[in-house]
Amino acid sequence: MAHRFVLPSGVRVVLDGARLELRDGRGHPLQKSELSLSDFHSLTAVARRLGVETEAPQTIRCGNCGATWDVVPCSRFEVGPYLDDELDDPELDADFDIDAEHDAGGLTLRLEPRTVGQARALLEAPSPLDVTPDVVRALGVVELDGETSPEGIAQLLAALDDETYAGFADVWEDAHYPPRLVAPHPCPECAAVEWLPIPAERELSVGAMGEAMPVHGFPSFDEVEMLVREVAPDIYAQLEIGEVSLSLLDGPAEVDDAGEPLLGSYLPPDPDALLPHGAEVRLYYRSFREMWRNEGPYDLRAEVSETIAHELTHHLGYLAGDDPLDDDERAAIGDELVRRVGRSEAERRATHAFVQDLTTFWRRTWVVWVIAAVGAVAAAVASR
Ligand SMILES: [Zn+2]
Ligand SMILES: [Zn+2]
Repeated sequence: MAHRFVLPSGVRVVLDGARLELRDGRGHPLQKSELSLSDFHSLTAVARRLGVETEAPQTIRCGNCGATWDVVPCSRFEVGPYLDDELDDPELDADFDIDAEHDAGGLTLRLEPRTVGQARALLEAPSPLDVTPDVVRALGVVELDGETSPEGIAQLLAALDDETYAGFADVWEDAHYPPRLVAPHPCPECAAVEWLPIPAERELSVGAMGEAMPVHGFPSFDEVEMLVREVAPDIYAQLEIGEVSLSLLDGPAEVDDAGEPLLGSYLPPDPDALLPHGAEVRLYYRSFREMWRNEGPYDLRAEVSETIAHELTHHLGYLAGDDPLDDDERAAIGDELVRRVGRSEAERRATHAFVQDLTTFWRRTWVVWVIAAVGAVAAAVASR
């Protein structure tokens, strides 16, 4: 079966087994070696998702509960926007400004666009990468920290400490992997979603997620709990709330409908439950810690206060019988999903779900309808 889709630059693809046909925006035929790296990476991810190209499974680790499991990275990639020519999201499909001067871990960096043909020395280089002047040309690095000769840049790159090198690799990946190239993999234990960069094996980094890296400088559980006790009374007083219990939990966090681990959650009171309980706000230590790990140090006191106030606002909504905050959060998750899945594909899925609902409805109720129809016919005959 021939698959037809577009790539970020507007190149049109027909992929039929081993046959690959490429045309640029004006309809002129194109060789694979003429593709930009970012189109090439997108093509690989789509071909894998469509099953045209095979892909090795990979073990990943849940940042929320620590479980590990095997995934085929591109298997959960949403390709609707490629198939339906809808690569127009302002963030997910944003063009990288390749001509700008970039900051690579504190060093100035200038890049040039690269095609598959120009990057051959990089694409065929053995792993771990040995940065030769040829690889520098293939990477399209034209200036690093004032150095402009490929030989000088190769020496500089080879001598970088891990952190600066990671900064360099991040900028280079941003330049050649559109933001849409990630796939969500829900943890089988806690449902938290791990976003996996795809294609998983990237030129400058290995996508392996083994042991969790330590988090530097984040306060201990006891310290954060103390902070919670310190800031909470003022927030409760300001919102004139007294009856909501508050706790900080050390285990895996609850996740929202999109599989995102929560910083906090609100549980309305349930006096009729098997174990009746009052209203409760829970904060999740791990989510605050993971945010520190992923985004770097931040104002923890402000973040904890904001989360408590946010969850208590849900309580006010509960008391008022209407929680607009909850409606907004659900709507935002839905919008986010459509941006990733694609408008046409989201519609198809909604229609499919609707038809399935109808089918189930018919299967469950057909006897009633047949009896009604027979009755109607009988009535019509009798009234003649
Ligand atoms: Zn998990
Ligand atoms: Zn909320």
